[in-house]
Amino acid sequence: MNSIASEPRLTCDLCGSAGEVAQSGIRDPDGNIDGSWSFRRCANAACGTYWLDPAPPPHELWKAYATYHTHTRKSAGRLGKSMLSFAHRFIKLGLLPLWIANGMKREADYLRFMTLGEEPIGKLLDVGCGGGRLLNRMKKRGWQVEGTDFDAQAAQRVASRYGIKVHVGDLPQCDLADNSFDAITMSQAIEHLYDPKATLRECLRILKPGGLLVMTTPNAHSIGATEFGASWRGWEAPRHLHLFTVDALRNLTRQAGFEVPEATTYSAGSAVVYRVSREILQGSSRSWLGKLAMLLWSYRKEMHEFSTQHDEPHTGQNVLIRARKPTH
Ligand SMILES: [Zn+2]
Repeated sequence: MNSIASEPRLTCDLCGSAGEVAQSGIRDPDGNIDGSWSFRRCANAACGTYWLDPAPPPHELWKAYATYHTHTRKSAGRLGKSMLSFAHRFIKLGLLPLWIANGMKREADYLRFMTLGEEPIGKLLDVGCGGGRLLNRMKKRGWQVEGTDFDAQAAQRVASRYGIKVHVGDLPQCDLADNSFDAITMSQAIEHLYDPKATLRECLRILKPGGLLVMTTPNAHSIGATEFGASWRGWEAPRHLHLFTVDALRNLTRQAGFEVPEATTYSAGSAVVYRVSREILQGSSRSWLGKLAMLLWSYRKEMHEFSTQHDEPHTGQNVLIRARKPTH
């Protein structure tokens, strides 16, 4: 484990209000960084953002990512692994009729294209594009695509693998032209930023009038967060610097100048978050049978979370915001 310097952040840097500690005792789920972390929640009802306190200063943050992609979990051995991957597919196939029947498949398909499936084809920017899979998918559908990412190596890989242009750095540093994109996507990215408001304003500037911003981020009021407390995978300290609820991210997006027609949560993919959260809490099972039981349990949790949305909306694993730049 590596240590990282950190400094207290007692007030909300989005609105300046004070906030109580909402969750403490959080450890780096990837085991990179030493220490115990907390999130405060902004007391201002018009904001409601969660932020990491204490937090690494910007010049230290790279340490939190230094072994981010190379960490490996305890594996079950080759035979166990192939059994599990078989089981995984088998479970998914078996669940397919159920998924189709209760609408989970529709939700997953909607999110696979970051909700742009029904939008007129145009020019797309994916902020924090990582491995570039979404961009490649959209390119195949006829979109003109570009990405941004902090990681110069990741950017290089996307460029050489898919022939897609990726700007390196924080969005405000990328210096993109006014009114130049029809859509911007930010999947699981805003929670990593020191200044989410500056990035949203930048999105507003570079979108065409009427252009669409689509964001997803872990939901601090999800069933998983409530159930697992400090062990919930979504805290991901100290890499997540802000976390949101539906209301908090809708507020911030409106303040940045957007119209927000859709603010909701979704459960697609939450099985993995349940699984990892439980492993953080209890440690992982060594036997493949134990892992199989865990897999089944996690899919049951995802289905339960999905069906709960009817009675308790906005408790899904991730927040989804669709926002438009005003046309005048
Ligand atoms: Zn605030």
